Amino acid sequence: MVTNLPAIGTQFLIDIPALDSIIGGLRRRGYEVLGPVVRGAAVVYDAIEGVNDLPAGAGDEQEAGAYRLTRREDGALFGFVLSPHSWKKFLHPPEARLFAARRDGRSFRLLNGGPAPPPRYAFLGVRACELAAIAIQDRVLLGESYSDATYRARRQGAFLVAVNCTWAAPTCFCTSMRTAPPAEAGFDLALTELVSSERHVFVIEAGSRAGAEVLAEVERHEASPGDRLEAERAIAAAKASIWRKVNTSGLRELLYEKFDDPRWDHVAQRCFTCGNCTQVCPTCFCTTVDDSSDVTGQQTERWRRSDSCFSQNFTFIHGGSVRMSAKSRYRQWLTHKLGAWVDQFGSPGCVGCGRCITWCPAGIDITQEAAALRADEEIAIGKGDAI
Ligand code: SF4
Ligand code: SF4
Repeated sequence: MVTNLPAIGTQFLIDIPALDSIIGGLRRRGYEVLGPVVRGAAVVYDAIEGVNDLPAGAGDEQEAGAYRLTRREDGALFGFVLSPHSWKKFLHPPEARLFAARRDGRSFRLLNGGPAPPPRYAFLGVRACELAAIAIQDRVLLGESYSDATYRARRQGAFLVAVNCTWAAPTCFCTSMRTAPPAEAGFDLALTELVSSERHVFVIEAGSRAGAEVLAEVERHEASPGDRLEAERAIAAAKASIWRKVNTSGLRELLYEKFDDPRWDHVAQRCFTCGNCTQVCPTCFCTTVDDSSDVTGQQTERWRRSDSCFSQNFTFIHGGSVRMSAKSRYRQWLTHKLGAWVDQFGSPGCVGCGRCITWCPAGIDITQEAAALRADEEIAIGKGDAI
């Protein structure tokens, strides 16, 4: 038991072997450590055993409908921006078996009471916008009116290691959504990577007692004013490079007013209703339930699977689907994300990560669509430029 814990919020400097020790310390505590790795042609989140699994020297280029891995000469471990995966993959998994049952005479016997207990997860590399996305899913899935057992089991023991962005993609707009780095709350440890020809180190701070206990075990020294300034400048430079914006002022009301705007027809001509935007989005949470039985009729299972407001079946009720057109489905998604979500959960359902822009095969850009709706409004009242 470590008695002399580093103070929460005090910044220290560690090197790469010390980061490896942090991963080892988490594994010794029984966590399954998940972090960024290169798989195929993308950085994704998967199990890691040490720093050697991290994507050293990997960068990425992102644009509307485009993603490409790149090589960096500096060997940065977190030199890419965002993965197509989000931590939703582990906290709110795309498939979960709710129960199975077997025929037992004229009745059925439940084979289990629900999903198997999940591992205790430690996430390494959670960006500030992703912390905000987890906080949003906490409000939705751990709220007073509804608490989701699968999410709760995975979330309550999770250990979060944040990484402050020191690079941004052209698709990022976290500064508009007030989710930009540095990470300020909701993490156990937070890192800022400093990489140059002279050194490769991390400024680190604990955000919880659990984080302080892990940090206490590794070699470190207090960050100097120069170290802290270098980290602040690297984060500030990343934020300053973000040019994509959403004007959120009055946006909720604007979206409600724009229910019949011709812009919805314009976007519907481009949207494939593939649902990619909802699958990559770290806050989208909708699911459906499938029941299936084996061919002998002896055993049945109930599965929960990710669903999307872009699928016709999503709104299928007696007599058919409520949203038959691409226009109605895109309008539902955007209006919910940036408008109705505020009424339901107290904040927009968007953190400005830009994944829906990068991974839309049609290159549809949520920021452009929101701006176009506002532009129509402002042209109509003679104000000219939208934002
Ligand atoms: S907006 Fe793009 S990603 Fe979303 S459903 Fe339409 S085509 Fe697919
Ligand atoms: S709507 Fe798009 S930009 Fe906003 S959180 Fe979801 S994926 Fe990220």
